[in-house]
Amino acid sequence: MKTNKTLMGKIYIVGAGPGDPELLTMKAYTVLQSAHIVFVDRLVSKEIRNLIPSRSTVVEVGKAPGQHSVPQEEISAGLIDAASKGFDVCRLKGGDPFVFGRGGEEQQAAQQAGLEVEVVPGITAAAGCAAAAGIPLTHRGLSQAVTLVTAQAADELNINWRALAAPDQTLVFYMGIRQAGQIQTQLVSRGLAPTTTLAIIENGTRPEQRIFHGQLGQLRAMVEQNQIASPALVVIGEVTRLGANADNLTSLNALAEEFCA
Ligand code: SAH
Repeated sequence: MKTNKTLMGKIYIVGAGPGDPELLTMKAYTVLQSAHIVFVDRLVSKEIRNLIPSRSTVVEVGKAPGQHSVPQEEISAGLIDAASKGFDVCRLKGGDPFVFGRGGEEQQAAQQAGLEVEVVPGITAAAGCAAAAGIPLTHRGLSQAVTLVTAQAADELNINWRALAAPDQTLVFYMGIRQAGQIQTQLVSRGLAPTTTLAIIENGTRPEQRIFHGQLGQLRAMVEQNQIASPALVVIGEVTRLGANADNLTSLNALAEEFCA
């Protein structure tokens, strides 16, 4: 442990990826091994937590949805306090720190405090979950753009739905499970076909991963019937047809419809 208080520590804002420890970057792993203190988000998987050396101090700052968490200012103050005392700090976040991760706010706070800060990118949930589900986020002839959207809101989402409801692109909703009904009705009312295919990936890249394929018009029902819980990602667009098992499911649906006709 560094004890020389005249030396400032460094703050590393590190992406832990979606959960599979093998998806950590080598740099993230190295920082995790050498930091004196690790501030951990709830989203960081158990398997990755197990990689934190027992000599390190661990501070839990995450929250379960809807529950109390450490306010952002307090987290930033904690990082700054530890680094100012000479400790190297690892701020470990799910996915990538700069994708809906508030990494920008922590970076600014560290810079304003005159501390050295480095961001270590991680595999964001969209990339990790898409790979795990065999869904290319873009695909020649099917999707020429991919949009990452946060669906976090207490009630009404403040989103430019018209811009999102365009064909030939992929939409990835983070934190969208509780707003599934709103996503479905808004996109359909702006003209996106209810038959547009989608996939929901819960606990992507983790041992308990579940993947569901369906259509936009079924989104809310899929979430309710399968009791899908956070963390889960909603991927909307024709690219989801290319996902593993999507074909089976489509042909199964067709079979069922034929049978019922
Ligand atoms: N910085 C993170 C995102 C934080 S927001 C990143 O880059 O991935 C939290 C949301 O990310 C969750 O509500 C969920 O929508 C998504 N998410 C994160 N990890 C996930 C996982 N393993 N499986 C599915 N969704 C995940």
